[in-house]
Amino acid sequence: MTIQKSFDKFHSEMITCTKCTRLVTFREKIATEKRKQYKNEEYWGKPIPGYGDINAEILFVGLAPAAHGGNRTGRVFTGDKSADFLMKCMHHTGLANQVNSDYRDDGLILNNAYMTAMLKCVPPQDKPTASELKTCFVYFNQEMKLLENLKTIVALGKIAFDGTLKYFKQFNDLKTKDFPFGHGKSYKMSNGINLIGCYHPSPRNVNTGKLNFEMMVNLFQNLKN
Ligand code: SF4
Repeated sequence: MTIQKSFDKFHSEMITCTKCTRLVTFREKIATEKRKQYKNEEYWGKPIPGYGDINAEILFVGLAPAAHGGNRTGRVFTGDKSADFLMKCMHHTGLANQVNSDYRDDGLILNNAYMTAMLKCVPPQDKPTASELKTCFVYFNQEMKLLENLKTIVALGKIAFDGTLKYFKQFNDLKTKDFPFGHGKSYKMSNGINLIGCYHPSPRNVNTGKLNFEMMVNLFQNLKN
């Protein structure tokens, strides 16, 4: 089976997942009630597959789809303020062909990059439980197996960072406390993959000045060195 076919099969199975009762209820409630400005749109309301270059060397991992972003559009980091900021930075550094990430068919192409989320369904208040993260971890594992050419993982936020460390801990005796999260902090995993911490591109971080365009672009430019 080709990698593309393996991804297609994986995605078609994953988007029917109903393992987390609380999240299934929440994702469907959001999709039914909708935000006023999107009331004429059909919300995705299902688990969100990753997207991008399946032969990529760089993987971006976020926390989870946003209620009216990924959960509406069906693509992670698509159709919300986090996506606007992230894609502006990715486009500036050649990782994306355009500055906008609005809809699944908007023409966005990621260059040598693949994008996913640690949790595939939107959680209330952006706060998944430990049990939900544990249950969904099986899908991140599958993605990691399918992405055969990875050299770098950029974890967007601490939960994504810790989840990625957990992935590597399955194969190596890593102690999480030895890998503090920070923007630009980089760690070589024993299989040679670089794990890089990155502040999440959320409005909470951008509006408070914790994260700005220059900081993000600097980190992305270093990925190519
Ligand atoms: S969060 Fe993951 S495991 Fe839970 S219902 Fe969604 S896809 Fe399934």
